[in-house]
Formats: sequence, C-alpha cells, structure tokens
Amino acid sequence: MAKLNHHFSKLSQNYLFPEIERRIAKYREKNPSAEILDLGIGDISEPLPPSAIRALCTASCEMGDSKGFRGYGPSEGYSFLRETIATHEYERLGIDPSEIFISDGAQSDIANFQELFDINNKIAIPDPTYPVYLASNVMAGRTRPMTKQGRYAGVAYLECLEKNNFQPSLPPYAQPFDLIYLCCPNNPTGVALTRKTLEDWIGYAKNHGSILLIDGAYSDFVTSPNIPRSIYEIEGAKEVAVEFRTFSKSAGFTGLRCSYTVVPRALKIIDHEEEFSIHALWNRRHQTKFNGVAYPIQRAAEALFTEEGKKEVKGLVSSYLERARFFSEGLKNIGYTVYGGVDSPYLWCKTLCETPSWDFFDHLLEQHQIVAIPGSGFGKAGEGFVRFSAFATRETLQKALAQLKKG
Ligand SMILES: *Cc1c(COP(=O)(O)O)cnc(C)c1O
Repeated sequence: MAKLNHHFSKLSQNYLFPEIERRIAKYREKNPSAEILDLGIGDISEPLPPSAIRALCTASCEMGDSKGFRGYGPSEGYSFLRETIATHEYERLGIDPSEIFISDGAQSDIANFQELFDINNKIAIPDPTYPVYLASNVMAGRTRPMTKQGRYAGVAYLECLEKNNFQPSLPPYAQPFDLIYLCCPNNPTGVALTRKTLEDWIGYAKNHGSILLIDGAYSDFVTSPNIPRSIYEIEGAKEVAVEFRTFSKSAGFTGLRCSYTVVPRALKIIDHEEEFSIHALWNRRHQTKFNGVAYPIQRAAEALFTEEGKKEVKGLVSSYLERARFFSEGLKNIGYTVYGGVDSPYLWCKTLCETPSWDFFDHLLEQHQIVAIPGSGFGKAGEGFVRFSAFATRETLQKALAQLKKG
C-alpha cells in the first residue's frame, strides 16, 4: 500500500495569498465600484527587454530549420550562456563557466539544493524571508512539527528586526548550524546584507564546516556602493558558499524561466574523513533530475549581456528602484517608518501604533483601498510590518500616496 511522505503534513497551510484574496473579494462585494490599488505584487510588471525578445525569436526560428535545429542540450546549460555569465558577472571573481549551472528558476534550485545533505543537518533561516527555504526543509523531514508558537522545532530562526538593522546576526548558541540560508537583498524586508554581515557568516561557516546558501534573486537591484552584489566578492566565500541568481526580477523573466546557480569547485565537505565535492554532487543531481532550459530561452538570457541588453536591464531595474524611492519618500512624508527600497524593489513599512500586520492590512484595504502583504506572512519576526512592492506601476503608486494622504 502506498504511504505518504508524512513530513508534508507538517507543512502549515499556505494561507497567506488565499487569505489576501478572500479579504479582497469580501471588500469588493461590499464596495463593487472601489478601485483597489495592488501594491502587493511580487511579480514584474514591465514587458521583456527588446534584445531578449529578438534573440528569443531568432533562436526559435533556428529550431525550425534542419541545420539550426537542436534537441536535448546539456542539462547544466549551453556553454555560450555559462561563459557569458562568467565573463560579465564574475570576471574578477574567478568563477569558472563550469561552476555555473543554468536552471529554470532560483526557486526550484534553492528548494532542491538541500537534498545533497543529510537529514540531520541543522538549518538556519532568516525570519522574515522567502518561505521556500523553510518549506523545502520541512518536506525533506529536517524539522520537527510546528510548535504552538508557530515555529518549527529543530530550526534556527535568524531574526531580521529593526534593532539589528535587519541583519541576521550570528547565533549565540553553542550548537552549530550546518546549512545557513541568506537572502540578499532580502525579500520581504528589501534590505541587503552588509559586507560585515556577510564576512561574519563566511567566518562562521569556515569555523563550523557549514555551508551558506545565498539567494541573490535581487542582486541586480543592489546600488549602495558598500554592499557586495555577489558573495564571491568576499575573500574565502568560494570554500563555503553557493549563490543562486535569476533573470526573473531584473530582466522580467518570471514567465520565461531562466536562472543560474554558482557552485564553486573549492566547496568541499568532509564526511566520515572523506572529502566530497559539492560541485560534483550537484552536477550529478542536475543531470539526473533536470534536462536543461529551452535553447531559445538561453539565447534570450545571453542577449541580456550585449551592450544593448545591459542597458535595457539597467533601465528596467532603475525604473523599479525609482518607483521604490518615490513611494518610500512619499510614505515617509506622511509619517510612516519605511525600510528597504534602496537595493530592492520592496519597501518594508512599519504599521502605525504597533498594529498587527493583518489588522493593518484590513485598515489599508478598507480605509485606503490599498493592498499590501502582511509582514507576518513571511515569518513571525515580520509581525508589525507590511511589504509594499515597487513592481506596481508609477500611476498606481501615485494614487496610493494620494489615498494615504487623505487618511
Ligand atoms: C522571486 C524570488 C525567487 C524566484 O525566482 P525564480 O527564478 O523565478 O524561480 C527566488 N528567491 C526570491 C527571494 C524571490 O523573491
């Protein structure tokens, strides 16, 4: 008789987005003519850059020609794309094209990466953060059931709070963590990790033989001069860190699907006195469980690194960041306390009078017809905040500010 993976039943219901939808529907029912301003969106709103579209069309046509046709490609990605990424993103950082694995999403890679490691590894996860790190480890059985406090026993939560400038600090405990997830710049707080924070974590990983899993989905949004865009800008990172990156948010690829994961060859672990290469293991996993990203899509990704493509991506990122700056200033002028939005399209806004996130969500919806994401939906430590997204159009953001001023 078939038996379930009982760890799946430990997952808490992902009620965040369904609950948001439910509350919006209820409001609409009572106020059918109200214009609702959606600042919750975590998806891009601008179309794909023209250079990517041209490359996509050209490569698609090549496929219909008996000379240009291609079947299965290498599961780790075509060398034209791996080499282009190595040249443009990691030139002075000494990352080899063979250390770059092309994939169809940072979400799937970061959710899958944990399977290289023993079930008894201790994991540490920022709070609040992107929910995939925790859920994938719950599914794998690396946690105990959820406690009454709404936390999984057996997981270390690295709190990102106002009082630590949203920098997850080193654990004070004696018990070491083996796999440490960091999201930089963090979704939802919109705050990037400082060089000092990253250096501290690299030092920690070296001392404890741990591995850092760095989600750089928003690395293209980093504009502050002292914030590293890549973990490999820091000495020693290659021995301890994997970096996940995606074209989703910066180049509008959320619907096209292309990402990459950097696994340096220098990243080794010692298990039972034997040395193992994480690169070799991930290579094996990728080849067994993944058959590569579509050729035209890899060509589209390659085109993002042409002179024109780079300009277009820069234009997209700057336009989102400009909106974030505009909305952040507007909120601050009204009297809100706002973080993020400088190296990220997200703003982390403190609720008024310490209102709980969901009550503030209702207030924004009912009084101002604005949708934000309750901070507590990203983790307990997100309580008392909401996330606004600058992926919304400028017009929507302008209307939202006008609405808030009325209040
Ligand atoms: C959007 C997002 C992802 C997903 O990236 P895909 O490449 O589209 O799968 C990963 N991490 C974070 C933090 C994100 O916000």
